[in-house]
Amino acid sequence: MEIMSTATIAHKTNGIVIAVVKEHAPCEQRVATVPEVVRKLTTSGYEVRIEHDAGAGAFYPDDLYVAAGAKIAGRAELLDGATIVLCVQPPTTADVEMLAESTIVIGFMNAANNLSTVARMRDRKVTAFALELVPRITRAQSMDALSSQATAGGYAAAILGAYNCPKFLPMLTTAAGTIRPATVLILGAGVAGLTAIATAKRLGAMVEAYDVRRAAGEQVRSLGAKFLELEINAESEGGYARELTPEEKVEEQQMVSAAVARADIVITTASIPGRKAPVLITRETVATMHPGAVIVDLAAESGGNCELTQSGKTVKEHGVAVVGPQNLPARVAFHASQMYARNLQSFLSLLVNEGGALTREFTDEILAASLLVNAGEVRHQPTLDLIKGGRL
Ligand code: NAD
Repeated sequence: MEIMSTATIAHKTNGIVIAVVKEHAPCEQRVATVPEVVRKLTTSGYEVRIEHDAGAGAFYPDDLYVAAGAKIAGRAELLDGATIVLCVQPPTTADVEMLAESTIVIGFMNAANNLSTVARMRDRKVTAFALELVPRITRAQSMDALSSQATAGGYAAAILGAYNCPKFLPMLTTAAGTIRPATVLILGAGVAGLTAIATAKRLGAMVEAYDVRRAAGEQVRSLGAKFLELEINAESEGGYARELTPEEKVEEQQMVSAAVARADIVITTASIPGRKAPVLITRETVATMHPGAVIVDLAAESGGNCELTQSGKTVKEHGVAVVGPQNLPARVAFHASQMYARNLQSFLSLLVNEGGALTREFTDEILAASLLVNAGEVRHQPTLDLIKGGRL
């Protein structure tokens, strides 16, 4: 085991203090770092402070953080002199008031819905990195918190679907006869959709999937599921989906509706970044489903892929349960936090130069793309436009 002298530690990270807050948003059980990652950070010489009970919701008690070399602190003590603050959810305006100038905050920022907080960070000259802005390039894969949390969400969606379904998912051959496997349909085969497909397959269901990006077909088939084909390719720049034309939408709707009608569980994950989620399942289509069928709408928080979805609620209509979960990754908080913490650990490595000093030159492609606010300026153009529009 490598034992570092105090001098080496001080040199390696130059007195950087990392503070990890307890999350206060409703439904939030995750924490931004876990003891395994704290151990690596403290071994590298960082001082790590954890807010009291920050990991409790994800089943990481304070004593595990202490054993990994962290200090437990109350909110004020935690932030006093902190160089870097790690969070899952965006800070509130009240949180920002407690941050000193030049403090670096890293987490999901959801800037479009938190403009006043962004403006306050600008005014207080706080630096904020938004993990959702990390570019999806190969070098950034280990920092891709959108993907790690979508993985958690996709898994949880499949389990939620199975839990709400009155049928077995696998085929069963028993003394009481043979049971046919359930049919699960996944709409949107991005990161969450592919994990939902893999989970439903492992549970033994027959799985079908659809995505407007034709490239998703190969990934769907490699998981042993059937890909529903439509003569449309709506992949655009960066691998994301473009919006369909009105004619394409009708064709898509008919094919999707037929698949929805025969499914026992439908999991929808379709979204277009920065826009309201597209409606894929209309009220009329729900009426064609058989009683006991379940829809789990992962896009519930961004408007829903089903017309009947209500965010945070389960709606029953025609005997069909339409589940609109909020913050699904938080339902698997233990592992979602572990993955998120590893993403942050990887991101942190970009902020420290070879001599162990904190860099304030955010020229690295990943840092530059994810920099939301710095030195009194909003650096993300779409957010800046919204802030100017709202005169904040
Ligand atoms: P997302 O959450 O933005 O959307 C989910 C899925 O919904 C996408 O696959 C999208 O094509 C699909 N969708 C949108 N409108 C639809 C519609 N009307 N009907 C059916 N499906 C619809 O997606 P994501 O999981 O963030 O992934 C987006 C893309 O980024 C994918 O191509 C993914 O492979 C890619 N990606 C790349 C990297 C990387 O290279 N590092 C990492 C993660 C994801």
